[in-house]
Amino acid sequence: MSPDQLASLRERIDGLNSGLLDLLNQRMELIQEVQEFKARTGRPLFDPARESEELTALMLENEGPMSADQVRAIFKEVFKLSLGFMQQETRNELHVHRGDQPDSVYTIAGHSFGAAPQLIAGPCSVESDAQVHAVAERLSSLGVRFLRGGAFKPRTSPYSFQGLGVEGLRMLRGAADAHGMAVVSEILDPRHLDDALQYSDVLQVGARNMYNYELLKLLGRTDKPVMLKRGFMATLEEFILAAEYIAHEGNDRIILCERGIRTHEKWTRNTLDLAAVPLLRQETPFPVVVDVAHGTGRKDLMKPMAKAALAAGAQGVMVEVHPDPALALSDNAQQMDFEEFEEFIAAVL
Ligand code: PEP
Ligand code: MN
Repeated sequence: MSPDQLASLRERIDGLNSGLLDLLNQRMELIQEVQEFKARTGRPLFDPARESEELTALMLENEGPMSADQVRAIFKEVFKLSLGFMQQETRNELHVHRGDQPDSVYTIAGHSFGAAPQLIAGPCSVESDAQVHAVAERLSSLGVRFLRGGAFKPRTSPYSFQGLGVEGLRMLRGAADAHGMAVVSEILDPRHLDDALQYSDVLQVGARNMYNYELLKLLGRTDKPVMLKRGFMATLEEFILAAEYIAHEGNDRIILCERGIRTHEKWTRNTLDLAAVPLLRQETPFPVVVDVAHGTGRKDLMKPMAKAALAAGAQGVMVEVHPDPALALSDNAQQMDFEEFEEFIAAVL
């Protein structure tokens, strides 16, 4: 073959490449229409039966010189690209999709959340009036504006302390009010909604309830900020879709909380997934909080992980603080005492 012939073959290949590109783009336009229809009618994006039909038809039609395996390999790639494209398009249509929305910033009980980093701190469980008042006094003197405390506790064992219930919420509210703080507390049961609305400023949904879609829908119909914690086993896609349940009902004042996921690792209580922080920030407009207490279960890791969380772009860090952690009725290994917290805040903020 002469160089001229080679050049002319290459010219024809270039032409075919352009033709293929054009065909693939035309195909993608049709895929887009299919995606819109599927999204509207709730049909699954991945349809293995349809893929298999397409492959069989192509095999029968193929006259070579490409082998059946080569045809299958190429079209599998095309199908994979189409599915990825449909999934991205579907994410782009979510209420919680970032798009070109700016960062969400909320004013909660007079305090801004979502701009400068905020600490959410307080005891694991509300145990007494004296306990929450002591914590609120100390935290507020150090500049903390968000007071956490569990009144309804989702404990692994039904024989463990279950929280003081509504009485605990009242105590937390009283302590927060005395020191100009906002209340962050978990709601476990839809039957407690009225009390939660009355006493809390941020409705926390715990890891165990991330999949409780009826609870999420209910909170979506309120106008209180909701802090949604990631489930133990939840992928980020599932986490974002759980937030969508809230936003879909009209409440878009959402805070996402990474609190570690369950892996085979035993040296930490959970495995804190810090890559989730920039990913959630890219995908949604919501502030992200990292709970380094439940995320690690270890006081020696709180400082470095809190710094890492802020470096990764988190708008907040959550920790547990108790006047006397050794006597705490829940999570005593991971709660800081006042001196430890003072050192923590000096190192982190
Ligand atoms: C909590 O923050 O009080 C709590 C129970 O955490 P999680 O739901 O993440 O286990
Ligand atoms: Mn706890």
